[in-house]
Amino acid sequence: MPARILIIEDEPSIADTLLYALATEGFSPHWCATGQAGIAALQSQAFDFVILDIGLPDGSGFEFCKQIRARSTVPILFLTARNGEIDRVVGLEIGGDDYLAKPFSPRELTARVKAILRRVSPTPALDQQATSQSPASSSGASSAAHLPWFSIDEARCLIRFRGLALELTRIEFRLCKTLISHPGRVFSREQLLDAAWDEPEASMDRTVDAHIKTLRAKLHAIDPAADPIKTHRGLGYSSRELP
Ligand code: CA
Repeated sequence: MPARILIIEDEPSIADTLLYALATEGFSPHWCATGQAGIAALQSQAFDFVILDIGLPDGSGFEFCKQIRARSTVPILFLTARNGEIDRVVGLEIGGDDYLAKPFSPRELTARVKAILRRVSPTPALDQQATSQSPASSSGASSAAHLPWFSIDEARCLIRFRGLALELTRIEFRLCKTLISHPGRVFSREQLLDAAWDEPEASMDRTVDAHIKTLRAKLHAIDPAADPIKTHRGLGYSSRELP
């Protein structure tokens, strides 16, 4: 059964775009133009996901999020016109699962929805759908099987994290690829130097730490809540094994 998605958004043009993009991806979207209408819809029908605009005519999306959270754990993705740190922190603190600033591309939106749905309730059907519709699948892309958050496009030296392309340097790409290709395996700094650098003997262990730091910052920019790279004190690094 397709996931039912409630869109609470007062701008018809944005709602239209969302309805079309989500229906195209096989979801079953439903639109409400006010917060009150959205709350009423949630009380009378079952939804698997809520897309919630922060600036609504009858109140703040944050307030409606609190009302929804009082009785439901349904995943909530905020939409906001303001690309501010405060919005993000407030939104996630009061129970939002993610946050997308306008303007966004429909593809970005559906990628976030899929990623969150996978995270909260992994289903084979959804994984299959996401894989078969991966834009990179026609160009020799391969997914890191145990890390559904990532996909590797070897031909383009591109790694996507939660559906979004990471802008990585050559070394960061190699580091990331090495870690996510073997989920849970701990790599020493020496092993990572060998895997990622052209002349490992000329580099130092601290160089690995510096590049892991910038890689983490880029992953963090896409998903502030996720920390897919784990530090093993005195040993090295690994990507996390996900359930
Ligand atoms: Ca609005």
